[in-house]
Amino acid sequence: MINNQIMHIGVDDTDSTRKGCTTYVTALLVEKLEKLNVTFLDYPNLIRLNPNVPWKTRGNGALCLRIKCASGLEGKIKEAAISLVEEHSDLAFKGTDPGIVFFQNEKIPEEIKAFAKNTITGIVTLKEAARLIKKFGGEALGFKACRGIIGALAAVGENLEDDHTYELIAYRAPENCGLKRKVDEASIFEMDKLTRPYTFNNVDSEKGRVIITPRGPDPILFGIRGETPEVVKKAFGLVKPLEPVDRWLVFRTNQGTDAHLKRVPALNQVVPYSSVVAKGVVSRNPRIIPLRHVIFSVKDETGEVDCAAYEPTGALRRVARNLIVGDSVEVYGAVRKPSAGKLLTVNLEKINILALAPKIVLQNPVCKKCGKRLKSMGKNKGFRCEKCGTRFDDARKVQTVVERELKAGLYVTSTRSQRHLTKPLRRYGLEKHGAGAEGMIENWRSP
Ligand SMILES: [Zn+2]
Repeated sequence: MINNQIMHIGVDDTDSTRKGCTTYVTALLVEKLEKLNVTFLDYPNLIRLNPNVPWKTRGNGALCLRIKCASGLEGKIKEAAISLVEEHSDLAFKGTDPGIVFFQNEKIPEEIKAFAKNTITGIVTLKEAARLIKKFGGEALGFKACRGIIGALAAVGENLEDDHTYELIAYRAPENCGLKRKVDEASIFEMDKLTRPYTFNNVDSEKGRVIITPRGPDPILFGIRGETPEVVKKAFGLVKPLEPVDRWLVFRTNQGTDAHLKRVPALNQVVPYSSVVAKGVVSRNPRIIPLRHVIFSVKDETGEVDCAAYEPTGALRRVARNLIVGDSVEVYGAVRKPSAGKLLTVNLEKINILALAPKIVLQNPVCKKCGKRLKSMGKNKGFRCEKCGTRFDDARKVQTVVERELKAGLYVTSTRSQRHLTKPLRRYGLEKHGAGAEGMIENWRSP
């Protein structure tokens, strides 16, 4: 049998806050397709979508398998995908609306690629997805409200031709799901040390905590993110699980690439539910609001927005607290819908300090005789030297430029509060551009 029929299979929104994981459904589908002797054209693609949509699922990740199969097998393949999604989705959960998209053209149309980008950076409609599927002869299957069709089509359309990373996900035995995850933590710190900077988001160095193990009821034991399939596999070999790993799989993904951020040329183009990069000048000094969050405002000729650094952003919050009016900054983050009469708020993921304004404080003058700083005698009553006793009746306060407790440069939210899509500092300089898949390694999954 010759595999000559191309098929892209997109899946989304099978999970809920209490159960399931779309990557797991995909892992099971890979095993089923393997038995049908298909050829995998790429690692399973794990596409994180706009983290800022109000109806998002837990991690807002959609998946796509790209395969070649013998003609005549399409029916069997579709059946396998549909029955797995049906079986493993949390269909009883309100807001879990799975979708599957089959697309059999070899080339992904530009319009579908553009749709995918919009799904990652902003808001799209099911109607638009349906129009594209019809126009280009795809097939879609939706459950309940069918919202998953949007993500499924976006996963088909995002073929990661630009910057991308890899994640090796190791899954637990079903009987262990819901129990505390058992992995030797010291081995994770050691793995991080031995594979950096080519793996990322393994540990939160601020808190000394491991972050490759999720906390929910899903079947993931841990996931290792990195620059190449080889390095995540090597890292996998260094981590010591203390419970059985049922299966593992390497995904190619847009995680850690900042794909969700859209640069806007002016602040009046910042819109709710998007994630932006925007330039401005600090227009209102930071204030600390309850729970130790820091809020400041930035403006340009076109508008003004608030920026919020929440407590878990760690270092970022400390940076934000030290900004002053006049500082020139570039802010990165998700835009929240404003409450009535308030400015739009950018929830900071990063801040790039472009230029610091001079910080000027008023100080008492120094004694002309002995050089000691004078003491004020009260408002408009002049100054007096405590050392030699000389009085200076008409001396005035002097302006002094003091050193800032900040340096220009890029600051990123703490590892523990980074979104799946946030590009961590460790990845700067390692971006891949226009490369596509690098060719597959032989053993990218088990079983
Ligand atoms: Zn003096």
